[in-house]
Order: sequence, then C-alpha cells, then structure tokens
Amino acid sequence: MTAPLPLVFDAPRRGMPPRHLADLDADGRRAAMVELGLPKFRADQIARQYYGRLQADPAAMTDLPAAVRDTIAGALFPPLLTPVRHIACDSGETRKTLWRAGDGTLLESVLMRYPDRATLCISSQAGCGMACPFCATGQGGLNRNLSTAEIVDQVRAAAADLRDGAVPGGAGRLSNIVFMGMGEPLANYKRVVNAVRRIVSPAPDGLGISQRNVVVSTVGLAPAIRKLADEGLSVTLAVSLHTPDDELRDTLVPVNNRWPVAEVLDAARYYADKTGRRISVEYALIRDINDHPWRAEMLGAKLHKALGSRVHVNVIPLNPTPGSKWDASPKPVEREFVRRVEAQGVPCTVRDTRGQEIAAACGQLAAEG
Ligand code: SAH
Repeated sequence: MTAPLPLVFDAPRRGMPPRHLADLDADGRRAAMVELGLPKFRADQIARQYYGRLQADPAAMTDLPAAVRDTIAGALFPPLLTPVRHIACDSGETRKTLWRAGDGTLLESVLMRYPDRATLCISSQAGCGMACPFCATGQGGLNRNLSTAEIVDQVRAAAADLRDGAVPGGAGRLSNIVFMGMGEPLANYKRVVNAVRRIVSPAPDGLGISQRNVVVSTVGLAPAIRKLADEGLSVTLAVSLHTPDDELRDTLVPVNNRWPVAEVLDAARYYADKTGRRISVEYALIRDINDHPWRAEMLGAKLHKALGSRVHVNVIPLNPTPGSKWDASPKPVEREFVRRVEAQGVPCTVRDTRGQEIAAACGQLAAEG
C-alpha cells in the first residue's frame, strides 16, 4: 500500500481562480455577455439562477438554450469549491464543511442552526497572516486570499442546502453571515467588500441577506475599518480586541504593534458614527492571561469612553488549540469579568461555543485536510 501524497503535491498552482459570475457586478455581467456574443438580457437571467435559485450548475439552468448553457459554463462557471467532507455535531445543528478550491487550496465554513436563525461562518482567506498565538488558523500562516466568488459561493451553497432540507433540522433559510472563519477579512479588502455587496443585494445582484445580519470581524486594521465605514454599507463590525492594554495586546494580536488599541477604538468610533451601527467587541477569555478584574474594568471604561452605548462585548471562552498551554477561564472568573465590564455601562454577554468536538469552534479552522 502506498501512502497518500501530501496535500501540497495535490495543489501545484495556488493562484486566484478564473473569473466566475459571482466576481462580477451588474455592469461586469453585461460586459461578459457582450464578450461572449450573447444578448445582455441573459446577464440577469443567469444571475437570477445563481443568486435567486441558488443554482451554480449551468447545465441545470433550464430556462436557457442549451448552447448558452455550454458557453457560460466555460466562461463564467469555472470549478470553484468542491465539498471534501461535511462533519456534524451538536445533534446535527452545527456542520463544518471542508472545501477544496480549483487549485487544491483547502478552506472551511461552519453552519450553525438555532431555533430562530441559521448562521454561516465563512472564510475570507485560506489561512491567515495575522499570527494571533491562540488561533489555530494563525499558526499556519497565509496560504492565499479567496476570490469574491469563492467567498460568495460558501454562502450560496449553504443557503441551497438549507432550502433543500439537506441539513439536519429540516428545510430552512440562511439568515446570518459572520466573517469569522479562516482569514482576516480586511486584509483581503476589495474582494471581501465585493462579496458583502453580493451577499446583501437582492436578486439578481445578490443573495438578499439583510445587512444587519452580516458581521465582518477584524483584528483591527484601523485604516481599513475607516475605509469600510465609507463604503455606504451598514453591516455589523466586530473588533477582536482581546485585551484593553497595548502591552498584552502586542502579543495576543501582533498587528497591535502597528495599530494600537487607541487607534483601533478611534476607527471603531468612526465606523459607528458613519454607519449608525453598534460595534461588537470580541474578547477571547484566556485563563490567567486576560481575565483579570482590572482588565475587565479597563475594557469597560475604554469602550464606554470611545463608544458610549454603541458597543457590546462578546466574551468567547477560549477554545484551546492543539498543543496550546492556554485554557478558558473558570466560570466564576468569567462571571466576574462580565459583571465588571457591565458595571462600566457596557453590555457584555458570553458567546456559546458551538462545534467544539469537530474543531469547528472559534479559531479552530485550520483545514488540516
Ligand atoms: N481575523 C478575524 C476573524 C477571525 S475569527 C478576527 O480576528 O476578528 C473570529 C474570532 O474568533 C476572532 O475574534 C478571533 O480572535 C476568535 N478566536 C480565534 N481563535 C480563538 C480561540 N482559540 N478561542 C476563542 N476565540 C478565538
């Protein structure tokens, strides 16, 4: 018996995929029709199939003549993402999907069903270059950016599976999207913003998911936060702060050396001012590292000063990565932390951690294959 080849041999080419329909905006779609010698009205017809009917296989777009299906299959629907496997837990209510891109790159998304909503956690990059020491993805470094279509198609595929009843719990509707999978969304800025537009625009331009149900989570790339504030979008911004002091944050979120806490909070205030949206602050609580009562107080005070009532803290109990010496805080310490943040006038809740036994919990997406 021969050993399986290491994945790296599986993936000789690691570039962006060829152009896909979901990379294009409405003008781009029409220009593509002209290029292909097709009438412009086909552009919206095809887009309605993809975004409205969630159909990604031109062969099944039966309202198109067969010749058109062949033409667009070659020109606008390159192989994008193939599911390698689905793994479920939490009685089927959490499902992680490992995807293989056209060039062999691996990435993951996680679908979480709740009584009142279905949330998909998507990846914006394969790997991540931010090197946060407590995050599994951060340990492997950045493989490559995902294209707009590779980001959008994670959403389309999950929406189709939910609609078709292909996920335990019966047929449903995808309602929420969080950019909390692999990667730093604002380090892949243009493609992510384009993907957000496709996700929130109504058909035929997009999947029609409500902006208020989309969360873009960032380590705090301050200039990119300001730029995002000026895009005319109103998605929720989540800032992964993890500690209110620069000394510790320099080690927990290394990019803090470039944009320290005060600059991140300034940018967050600008985002709140421009969009009218409340900022969500992420705080992975790590035993004896960032869970001290004085840090809770400093966090609450700094956030209240910067953002007033336009901020909410999400405490995420640390999910230890394999081999990590760090652990989640004991529950009484967590409760005291929450109490002290709230005492400063800042709402604070503890996030439930789905998907732990399938390595689909926060920061566990490393796509080891
Ligand atoms: N790069 C983006 C998205 C990353 S994942 C960002 O940093 O915001 C989304 C959240 O999960 C981030 O707040 C991240 O810090 C957190 N996270 C990563 N690893 C974790 C772990 N092991 N335990 C708990 N939360 C973790």
